[in-house]
Amino acid sequence: MGQPGSVAPFKKPDTAPSAAAKPRGRKFLRQNELVDRVQAYQPDASDDELNKAYVFAVMKHGQQLRHSGDPYFAHPVAVAGLLTDLRMDQSTIIAGLLHDVVEDCDVSVDDIRGLFGKDVAELVDGVTKLPKVTGSNSPRALIQAENFQKFILATTKDIRVLLVKLADRLHNMRTIEFMPTEESRLRISRETLDIYAPLARRVGLSIFAGELEDLAFRQVNPVAYAAISKRLEELTTDDTSILDRIRSDIETVMLARGIRGELKGRMKRPYSIWRKLENKSISFKDLGDVFAYRLIVPTTDDCYRALGAAHQQWAALSEKFADYISVPKPNGYRSLHTTFLGPGNRRVELQIRTTDMEAVAERGVAAHWKYKNSQYGFDAESAREAGLDAEGELIEFADMLKHGGSPEEFLEHAKLQMYRDSVFVFTPKGQLVRLPAGATPLDFAYAVHTEIGDTTIGARINGQERPLRTALENGDTVEIQRGTKPAAQPHWENLAVTGRARSAIRRLTRVAERGEFIAIGRRLIEHALRRIGLDPAEVDQAEMTERAGFEKADALAEAIGRGRLSTADMLEKAFPGLDDPGRQASASRDQDGPSLVAGGEMTAGVTMHLAECCSPLPGDRIIGVLIPEKGIEVHVIDCARLADYEGQADHWLDLRWKPKGDADALAVGRIHVTTANRRGALALLAKTVSDAQGNIINVKTLKRSPDFFDFEFDVEVEDSKRLTQIVAALRALAVVDSAERVKG
Ligand code: MN
Repeated sequence: MGQPGSVAPFKKPDTAPSAAAKPRGRKFLRQNELVDRVQAYQPDASDDELNKAYVFAVMKHGQQLRHSGDPYFAHPVAVAGLLTDLRMDQSTIIAGLLHDVVEDCDVSVDDIRGLFGKDVAELVDGVTKLPKVTGSNSPRALIQAENFQKFILATTKDIRVLLVKLADRLHNMRTIEFMPTEESRLRISRETLDIYAPLARRVGLSIFAGELEDLAFRQVNPVAYAAISKRLEELTTDDTSILDRIRSDIETVMLARGIRGELKGRMKRPYSIWRKLENKSISFKDLGDVFAYRLIVPTTDDCYRALGAAHQQWAALSEKFADYISVPKPNGYRSLHTTFLGPGNRRVELQIRTTDMEAVAERGVAAHWKYKNSQYGFDAESAREAGLDAEGELIEFADMLKHGGSPEEFLEHAKLQMYRDSVFVFTPKGQLVRLPAGATPLDFAYAVHTEIGDTTIGARINGQERPLRTALENGDTVEIQRGTKPAAQPHWENLAVTGRARSAIRRLTRVAERGEFIAIGRRLIEHALRRIGLDPAEVDQAEMTERAGFEKADALAEAIGRGRLSTADMLEKAFPGLDDPGRQASASRDQDGPSLVAGGEMTAGVTMHLAECCSPLPGDRIIGVLIPEKGIEVHVIDCARLADYEGQADHWLDLRWKPKGDADALAVGRIHVTTANRRGALALLAKTVSDAQGNIINVKTLKRSPDFFDFEFDVEVEDSKRLTQIVAALRALAVVDSAERVKG
């Protein structure tokens, strides 16, 4: 590496910004520079035509000035320059130069047809007639939606119209700071985030999309933009030596396998970080402290070999792996993605792809303008081979028009299509709520209002009662059923995907947990007092609390409830000298039965856990055992495991089920079945269970002999009565030798 004359196996990344972005020392591309750039990829492009268009644009825009003070023609020239970044054909470059002359300069489409031919004229006409998607003078949603329909229809006729429009918008966003009013800067930026950036993504034009998003985000949320940019900058300046070290380690590993290519450091974009921070409960550290690289190799084969080399050297984080080569994204994107613990145990993100895949990743549909049969143009065949159907993607929008629906409906549908990683649902009153894909009714509830989230007990989706774990789908109408007080269960945290819902649920359950431990503790204290012959109502609580070494009664109850302090020790401190039978108790639970705390009515929740050994179901006779720091473990009264807790009488609680269980919480029971070894026996059992309204969630084969099968089923049911019915139905089958519920 680095020897004079040799080709470096790993090229240094090309970090120079595009000439259109920052023409060095000059404000805009000169005529001959533009021609050179086009001819670099389309050698047969005509100097004459390009020069003619350049001069025409300069002349027609004449003395007009931009808000920036630049001559107006600097804008169409910059747009044409951006289109050369996409390697668009000569007609598109010319259309870029002329895209504003019809609207601004009293030139007709016929004039253009006469001067530059039909192809250019139709492109300019298309761009000129594109409706304003959200014009400041048309704030009404209806007009917006109708215009959006027209916009999509116009761009499906020739996707180059869309590419010119996107280049136009990108240059306008690059100069947005010159717009005179904040109102106009915000409006244009919101439009960019809502319509243009998603459209650019839709056709795979990610270099434009990323820049459009960041420029618009900077206007719409300057504080967040500045904070994230600053953090990103700190990371890269702090870690230059680490970046270089990881880079050289990856290069060494690849070279050892004979893999040659180009390794690029990858900048994280502020807007994409912001979207993730907004949607998921992750911290900036999770997102930012990742060292991101992209490896460009010659062949697809090299991609997989490079992946293998990385995974053999470093531990891969499997959940971060994706193979978009074998299954490309709908916009044609192909690449391998992996994350591994690299040098110094740092998380390293590596994207591996070929040069062709890189072109598609950056330019999407535009990557398919190339020579075919000595004509420079869109190569539909190459696009299809790459798995890309960008025009089809837009035609999908157009198809929606044919299927009727109002313009507003169309706009919403089109937006749904553009935001693939989002899900759009409605409140019962028809208000649209956008959530990240995978969101559940809990996320919805918290997105609408924290108070609604806190009191959620159930949900109806499209009029049907559905479990809170249900992932919402586009267009669902979600109605939240609310209780009178906070109802969050600890496992609900895992049902939510948004950071907002998850942290709120965590906060609620922490409060509820303490409350429940206090309640348990109070009950245990009452029970202990009765055991030594005292009436809890007559005991001076304050004095007892103080003697036990606590300032507040709640703190004492909590300590007892959490099992940090035993009631025996508490009694010893508070009432020394009084005989405590609980201390020596070795009594069996039969003897202790009557003296147990009676009538605890608890819902499965924060501090109560159904024991897995016997899986109690609503309706079973149950008993609770206090396990320090864990809470109450609930067993059926005849569970064999209860023998382990004999002798800890003061840790036992008599419990019974609340009359009506939590509608959302189905319980799981286990059934052991022995059947004749006959074809179709299992299918028959499964059908019987489901006919009896049980939901099989697991099947285990225990034994299989020539004559008999032994199965265990885990069945989801609402209560023990249902499970009994299912067992009975199974026993009724001719093939079934025996069926019984498994306890303990
Ligand atoms: Mn323009």
